[in-house]
Amino acid sequence: MEYLNERVSYLRGLADGLGIDDSTKEGKIILAILDTLEDFADAINELEASHSELDDYVGEIDEDLSEIENHIYGDEDYEEEDDDYDYDYEDEDEDEEDYEEYVEVECPNCHMLMSVEEELLEDEDAELVCPHCNATLKVKDLKIVDDDD
Ligand SMILES: [Zn+2]
Repeated sequence: MEYLNERVSYLRGLADGLGIDDSTKEGKIILAILDTLEDFADAINELEASHSELDDYVGEIDEDLSEIENHIYGDEDYEEEDDDYDYDYEDEDEDEEDYEEYVEVECPNCHMLMSVEEELLEDEDAELVCPHCNATLKVKDLKIVDDDD
């Protein structure tokens, strides 16, 4: 953004060449505007410098964080750019917890096994659809698969 300073310098030279000084009201305001422009150019240059410093720093943090994430989650399917990864991972955790409450049952129609929420089995008249044969089944007709059998 150094060109901002160059352009202000150019305008200042132009004003000089045109003989603009503070002896007239217009000259006063033009010189004051040039001073203000110079301040703006300086401020923008400073902002740019501190922004690029911050940018580098955030980049370093991002790299460090990726390393930590790889370390914790393992690097399977992990992509640095994927912001949703954290959420996906939490979802998987929840699914695993839910799985504890599932019970294996056998469909009386097609005899395929399926997992049903334990809670659902408490109501004998509840109905569900077999994912294999699409038959509508009543809970009381389901055969709960017991490990002891
Ligand atoms: Zn079935």
